[in-house]
Amino acid sequence: MLNLEGRVALVTGGSRGIGKSIVETLAKAGAKVAFVYRSSKESADAMVSELSETGLEVLAIQGDVSSKEDAERIVEEVVNKWERLDILVNNAGIINDGLLAIMEKDAWQSVIDTNLTGVYNFAQSVMRQMMSQRYGRIVNISSVAAEFGNQGQVNYAASKGGIQGLTRCLATEVGRRNVTVNAVAPGFIETDMTEAVRNAAEGEIKKRISVRRLGLPEDIANAVLFLASDEASYITGHVLTVDGGLTLGG
Ligand code: NDP
Repeated sequence: MLNLEGRVALVTGGSRGIGKSIVETLAKAGAKVAFVYRSSKESADAMVSELSETGLEVLAIQGDVSSKEDAERIVEEVVNKWERLDILVNNAGIINDGLLAIMEKDAWQSVIDTNLTGVYNFAQSVMRQMMSQRYGRIVNISSVAAEFGNQGQVNYAASKGGIQGLTRCLATEVGRRNVTVNAVAPGFIETDMTEAVRNAAEGEIKKRISVRRLGLPEDIANAVLFLASDEASYITGHVLTVDGGLTLGG
């Protein structure tokens, strides 16, 4: 049983979908967990009261991951409250699909700013704390879209491929301080993000997945839990695909 007693975690985009499941999973494993939401205050508040009622320590903080100021403020708040920060999960992400030929600059920039610059903002903001405590686990949520050629996703694929490169480079920079940096690349997971595609083609998608089901947020949260644990101390710079065999081709 993986145990995170005594650890402090920060999860971005924790109010819904995969991030929500990561928050619940890390908290149930014993970590104190702060999470960032952008606009879903109601859902964030409900999560905090529900998890607190069961004795778990969870904190919701509003902020925009694309803002460096917000990242620094949030990290400072977590460290002031719990005096350390052991685990960072960069999960917040958006899509804004469209063919490159007609993609507005804003659709490109907003996806890069949230998905990729957001990782830079938070990874840099936790660096001093993790290096000085000589312990850290950074887990970045990428996507199989980094490797697939999906029509209409040049912005998203670029951001998720960027995360994989960042993960490998940063791992070489901080390993000597006992900080590991890994990524998880989910396949097709049932969340708000994939609702439209699911409604249009769920049956077809399942046929391309070896285990013949869509992924659940818990499938990703369990992989994150492992990479965030002490037991994963010899794994760094790795991208773990969690896709039920989608990238195997069916
Ligand atoms: P959802 O759309 O369900 O949830 C997105 C979360 O990110 C929400 O909590 C949202 O906050 C938060 N968020 C978005 N933008 C910002 C921002 N600028 N600042 C702070 N928080 C923000 O997405 P998923 O759960 O599906 O996706 C989670 C991650 O997994 C993403 O990085 C996504 O790219 C990746 N992924 C998902 C896959 C899937 O099939 N679902 C497949 C591969 C990767 P709020 O609720 O306040 O809006």
